[in-house]
Order: sequence, then structure tokens, then C-alpha cells
Amino acid sequence: MIEREQLFQDMMRSIARYAPYADESRIRKAFALADKRHASQVRRSGEPYIIHPVAVAEIVAEMGLDTDAIVASLLHDCLEDTATSYDEIATEFGTAVAQMVEGVTKLTRVQYSSLEEQQMENLRKMFMAMSKDIRVILIKIADRLHNMRTMQYQKPEKQVSKSMETMEIYAPLAHRLGMQKIKWELEDRALQYLDPTAYKDILDFLEQHHDEAEAFMNEIQDTLRERMQTVGIQSSIYGRIKHIYSIYRKMKAQHKSMDELYDLYAFRVVVDTIPDCYNVLGHIHDLYHLVPGRFKDYISTPKPNMYQSLHTTVIGKRGIPFEVQIRTWDMHQTAEYGVAAHWKYKDGISSNKDNNEKEFEWVRRLLESQQDTEAEDYIHSLKVDMFDDEVFVFTPRGKVISLPAGSTPIDFAYAVHSAVGNSMVGAKVNNRIAGYDWTLNNGDVVEILTSKSAKGPSRDWLNICKSNQARIKIKQWFKKEKREENVARGKASMEGELRRLNLNPSILQEEETRNIILKKLAFDELEDLFAAVGYGGMTAFKAVNRIKDEILRLHKAQPQQAENIPLKFPAEQTQPKHRSFAASGVIVEDIPTCMVKFSRCCTPVPGDDIVGFITKGYGVSVHRKDCVNAQGMDDPNQSGRWVKVSWASDGGAFSTSLEILSLNRDGLVMDLATAMTALKVKVTELSSRALNDGTAITNLTFQVSDVGELEAVKSRLRAIQGVTDIHRGHGA
Ligand code: MN
Repeated sequence: MIEREQLFQDMMRSIARYAPYADESRIRKAFALADKRHASQVRRSGEPYIIHPVAVAEIVAEMGLDTDAIVASLLHDCLEDTATSYDEIATEFGTAVAQMVEGVTKLTRVQYSSLEEQQMENLRKMFMAMSKDIRVILIKIADRLHNMRTMQYQKPEKQVSKSMETMEIYAPLAHRLGMQKIKWELEDRALQYLDPTAYKDILDFLEQHHDEAEAFMNEIQDTLRERMQTVGIQSSIYGRIKHIYSIYRKMKAQHKSMDELYDLYAFRVVVDTIPDCYNVLGHIHDLYHLVPGRFKDYISTPKPNMYQSLHTTVIGKRGIPFEVQIRTWDMHQTAEYGVAAHWKYKDGISSNKDNNEKEFEWVRRLLESQQDTEAEDYIHSLKVDMFDDEVFVFTPRGKVISLPAGSTPIDFAYAVHSAVGNSMVGAKVNNRIAGYDWTLNNGDVVEILTSKSAKGPSRDWLNICKSNQARIKIKQWFKKEKREENVARGKASMEGELRRLNLNPSILQEEETRNIILKKLAFDELEDLFAAVGYGGMTAFKAVNRIKDEILRLHKAQPQQAENIPLKFPAEQTQPKHRSFAASGVIVEDIPTCMVKFSRCCTPVPGDDIVGFITKGYGVSVHRKDCVNAQGMDDPNQSGRWVKVSWASDGGAFSTSLEILSLNRDGLVMDLATAMTALKVKVTELSSRALNDGTAITNLTFQVSDVGELEAVKSRLRAIQGVTDIHRGHGA
């Protein structure tokens, strides 16, 4: 039976070493409550449960955290394991403590059933996102450290699974937070269960060579100390053997045995000032032979986790290489305790606001060095919310899905698979039925209810979902699945096009005509053609254009009438049969009124340099000056037919096309389409074909008002991954 008062006094003594300002009466109150609530529980070691929260509180104090964090550490398992409520903790100890305890509890509830490599980063990010207050994650790391220290009492399966989590989640987090000492201990303790044989081999080797190592380290330390005294530099010198996991990793990476391993030893010289650091470096290089290429100056260039030191590797008299790290006491604190060493709201020390923001700016950078988000609004209080634009949730099988913040079950369903989204009939969040517009939170477990008889997405979903992925997939569904609607729409457009050619739409029902159309356009059924036109896979204009010659021949209509129609406008608009120069957007010099049409070969748009060619009977055809067909200007036989033309000020929409060369990759067409949608540019045709060499050519026809807009489109498309070249199209 442990004497409680003794336990409390021992804890207070160790807390006081690191947190002299800690509020003893609040800590005593928390200790008493935790002890009372956990009274019926014992640790697997057989000890009373209170041993665990006390140990966690001591680690947290050692990290340098404040009274609130120490109190929260004592209570950290109360919400989960006992009949204690959030409100009770909030009333007794304040909301800051209650929120921390709740945060730790949430992290405890996270299940790691899927430990695939790619999941790890997401899980680590989720941890960060869930621990709005960074003290939460520090308490959680302390909790894990104590559990790893007492892991020998657990069953073998649990030893392995907890060690995996430790290696994959907690040690990297400790590293990212700059907490070297804790990281090392977590790694060594995890390795002990993950590769017991290797762990034991290394341990045995180190034990066998213990005396040797000791003698070697003493010799080096004595030499260094003597030199420091001679030159009058105040310093503390420590020698150590590198931690077991780092030896293990080096052996694996370099395929070497223990005795072949390069530098097992590390020495640390801690001094008062930065100039002293460089002085010490000079003396070490004077005493020992330097190993080239191993000197690193992390003082002038700190590591991303703020670690600072000078590193050098030298060879001692016996030919044994060893590393020396030289740093100031401040740097030493940072190296040992990382983010916690920079914790400025220690009790009794009023924190300076500006200073605090700087600290948290640092925390932010350290936690997520890859993400280049704007810094300013992120850290205004004692919160870490760099992942505010993302939310991390689980599938029922434990896979982590990352979604834009504010996402709903619809986004989740489409992120899992479009088939899941399309057959969704409801959703459960944390085992409770949730509406389609439910906002997902970090750590939620989301289950999508599906049915084979589901009617598919509703158009409302487009307004509810937050992710582009879901939006695109829902739109795709409407294209593909709404066949009847598409067929009807496509049929109407085709008929409209035919009417424009003065043809009776009923010719579509004539067998001969139908066969020509299907053959030319490569469709099996007329309905398939209509569907393609209906969802925008092909414009009715384009379709009719390709078949009109043969149909006109068959039906003996007047081709002139058809040719006179300006080619720039798509089918849906009803067009006058001829247009004056003003309406066409082009002024033809010396010819006040004439018919104008835009050449199909170079699809000019306002801003392009253009010339006109007087055709035989169809007015003036406008080409870009650089069009191959305009090179005939120099032909003396034709020179009289070329006229100067210019753009009228008010243009309207002009159809043009681009040829896009790219790598042939999945999703390219979708990315192109998305870009065009984002630019609000109306696309009339988008077709892509793969070439044998792994590249693809995409023809994109769309409407712009001028060359400026065209350039904007081009530069946006050029930014798309895999696009290698873009140039103006040369017509179909
Ligand atoms: Mn615990």
C-alpha cells in the first residue's frame, strides 16, 4: 500500500525542480480528485492507478509546462475511465484544464487500425489538428512515454501494437516538436518490442564493451576539460553512446555490424555564449583530426525544428571517430525539450504578448514546414490551428480521409469512391444518423449508408458539398446517368441544327440518312449520338457540320445558304442568316457592307492581326495574318482578293481553339475542364487522344472575347500538371 501523502510529496518535489512556480494547492486538489475517481482501478503492474497520472504530471512538469497542464495531466484519464464530467472539471479547475483533458481524451479514443505508410502523415496531422492547444499533445506524449516505460506488464500483442504507434506517431511528433530526449526514449522503448533480437544484440554489445567505452569517454572528456580550463572557457562536457535506435537504423541503412559502425560516441560541450561555441570548435580541431565533410553549423542555420548546435566529427588517438556537439545552454534547452523549452507562460512569469506570438509562429513553422500558408492570422491565442483548412476523419475501417474544412458526409462519400457517393442514401457520424449537410469534425468516424436502389445524387448536393472532387463527380453523374434527359436535349439540338440548314428534322428518321450519320460520326445508335450531344460530349453544331455535305447532297438543298452562316457561333443560338460587318465584329476596309465569316483554319479572335479574303460568293473570309492559308497573299494571281480588315470595338464571343500537348495522365481532361470552368470560359469541344509515346493531344474549342482572355486561358492551362505545350489550333 502506497502512502498517498508520501506519493504527493515526492511528486511535488520533482515538479518543483522544473516548475518552481507551480500552484501546489490546485495540484493537490487535482491529485485528490484523480486518486478518488481512479480508486477502484489498478495498473497492470498491480500498483494503484494514481501512479500513472502522477508520473505523467511529473514528465509534463519536466517539459516545463504550467500548473494548468500539470493539473490536466493528473486528470487526463478521468473523463475516459471514471464518472467524472467535463463540467465538473471545468467548475473545479477552470475551462482551460477541462478543455485540455477533453482534448487528451479525444486523442485517446482515436483508433489506429490502419497503419499504412501514407496514412501516417495524415494521422500525425490529425493529431495536430485535434490538439488545438499544443499542451494537449505534450500531455499525450507524456502519457505515451509513461505507458512505454511500463509496457513490460502488457500482453505481447499490445506491446507490439503500442510500439508501432509510438514509432510511427509519437516519436515523429516528438521530433517535430524538437523534443530530442523524449524522442530517443520513445524510439528505444518501441524498438525493444518491435525487433527484440536486434535490440538485445545492440544492448549486449554495448554492455560487453562498457568498460572500454567508459574508459574511452573519460579520456576524451578529461582531455577536453583540461583544454577548456587552460584557455578559460566555462563549459560542461558530457559523453554518451548514441541511442540504440539510431545505432540500429545506421546498421540497417549501411548494412554494417556493430563493430563496423562509424561513430557510436557523441560528446556535448555546453558553453555560455555563441562565440565560445566557435572557440571550442577551434580547440577540438586543434586536439583531434577532423573527419572531412562532417562539420555542420546549425547555429548559423538552425534545423526546421529550431535545433541549434555545431557538429563536428573527429578521430581520437586510438583511431575511434566521435562526434562533438557544441551549443549554448539556451540551445541545449531547445534540443532537449523542444517546443516545451520555449513555453513562455510559465506560472508567475507574465508573458509578453509579442514574444508569445513569435513563439507560436515558430511552433507553427516547426509543425508544418511543407505547408506554406500565410502566417499572420494563424496564431493569435495559445492555439495551434494550422490545419484549419483541412479536416481529418475516419472510415469505419480506420482509414484517415482528409477533406476541406466544413466538409459534409457527401464530400466524404465521394472521397471514398464515386460509386459510394452515387449510391448514398444516408450517413452515420460516430454511429449516429447525420444529415447530408452535417459538418464533419476532426476524428469523426463516418459511415456512408448506400443502397442499390438509390436514385443517385440530387442537384442540391452541389450546393451542400465543399470539395471540388465531390462537385465534379456529382456533375459527371448527371452527364452519364441522366441519359433520357440528355437524349432529349441532344435530339432537340440536332433538330435545331438541321433546321438551320433548311432541312426537315424528320430526315433523321430516314434510314439512308441515319446510316450516313451513324457511320460518319461513329455511333451505333442515333440515341447514343443524341446522348453525347445532350451532355456536351459533342456539340450539335460540330456533329451536323461533319455530316452536312453528304446530307445536303442527299437532300439537294442549297449549299450557299449553309455556307453563309457565320461559323463562329455554336448551335444553340439562333442566328440570322447573314450578318453585317458591325454584327460580325469586323470592319472590312473599302467595303461598307459585306458578309463576313471567320475562317475555320485559324479561328481568329479580337486582338489577332487579321486579313480578309474575298471569297467567290460568300463574302469576306477572315484569317489570322499568320495563318498558313493567308500566306497566299503574296501570290500575284490572288493578291487582289486580299483586303485589309480590322476588329470593331465591340466584339462579343468568338470561338477559337487550342491544341494542348501533354503527358498522357489520368485526370488531365478533368483538370482542363475544371480550369476552364474556373475561368468561366464556355467550352464547346474538348477531345483528347493518347499517342503511343505516352503523350496526348487535346483539342479544346471555346469562346473568348479577345486575345487577352485567350492569353489568360493559355497561361492557366500551362500551369496544369503534365501540360508541355499549347498552341493555337489549325481547325478540325
Ligand atoms: Mn493515460
